Amino acid sequence: MADVRIGVVGCSGRMGVNLLRTVAATPGCAIAGGTERPEHAAVGSDLGTLAGVDGLALPVGDDAAALLAASDAVLDFTVPEATVQHARLAAETGTPLVIGTTGADAAQDAAIREAAQATAIVRAANMSVGVNLLLQLTRQVAALLDEDFDIEIVEMHHRYKVDAPSGTALALGQAAAAGRGVGHDAAALRGRDGITGERPRGGIGYAVLRGGNVVGDHSVVFAADNERIELTHKAADRAIFARGAVRAALWLQGQPPGLYGMKDVLGF
Ligand code: NAD
Repeated sequence: MADVRIGVVGCSGRMGVNLLRTVAATPGCAIAGGTERPEHAAVGSDLGTLAGVDGLALPVGDDAAALLAASDAVLDFTVPEATVQHARLAAETGTPLVIGTTGADAAQDAAIREAAQATAIVRAANMSVGVNLLLQLTRQVAALLDEDFDIEIVEMHHRYKVDAPSGTALALGQAAAAGRGVGHDAAALRGRDGITGERPRGGIGYAVLRGGNVVGDHSVVFAADNERIELTHKAADRAIFARGAVRAALWLQGQPPGLYGMKDVLGF
């Protein structure tokens, strides 16, 4: 069978380079190409050199439409504005899209949902197997414990991360809210500072740490009087997200249009 041709938009980013390497290392997959935003210094340079992959003989491009047309699936770990453009183009070409970008606002979420009516999209704030298991466990534990247990979500990432709390932290909060049977946005406690007053019962709190080159740590704390349960995942290498993204791209082959999650890909 022919290799599945996978394109990477945002190919010189921290995730982009990892994605290229993972596609190249995965049996049955081939790199279809990579793009960057037109003003990026990497455009026109050698894609193989960028990714540390031999024998590619492809330049870094800036034409996402052409890459989508030439690919069996495209991986997007960029910024929300670019992701929306890529999703619209993918809807036109019918190319399956894997979206890992976080930090989208409500209008951008709606644009991605609309694109998913015309093509198959996997979207997840975190593509690692471990975090997806953590999401399931969080939902289950939250369903078993009552509001005597305060839920706090703690995350730490590298100093370059631009959105907070992380998309994964928010997904964990949503899993906790779903398990408890409450609306997430009404329960969320974000940005504590100064005289905050006592903690409201039933709230889902967030705490954010930034520093160093931490790839991504997430803990969900269930704290009652005199006892505490903590569920923790620590990512040591971006390869775990890249492996999940490539797995999603392969799973998407032949799927009908729709918006899917890693739960679908992993069968959890
Ligand atoms: P990064 O800043 O290193 O990379 C983003 C890349 O996208 C940059 O190279 C940038 O030039 C490029 N880009 C921006 N606009 C573009 C456009 N119009 N066309 C093509 N390329 C464009 O960031 P990163 O650390 O690689 O993270 C990227 C995103 O992925 C973030 O939202 C991050 O939170 C998310 N992320 C998700 C997961 C997951 O498992 N879902 C894991 C890690 C990171």
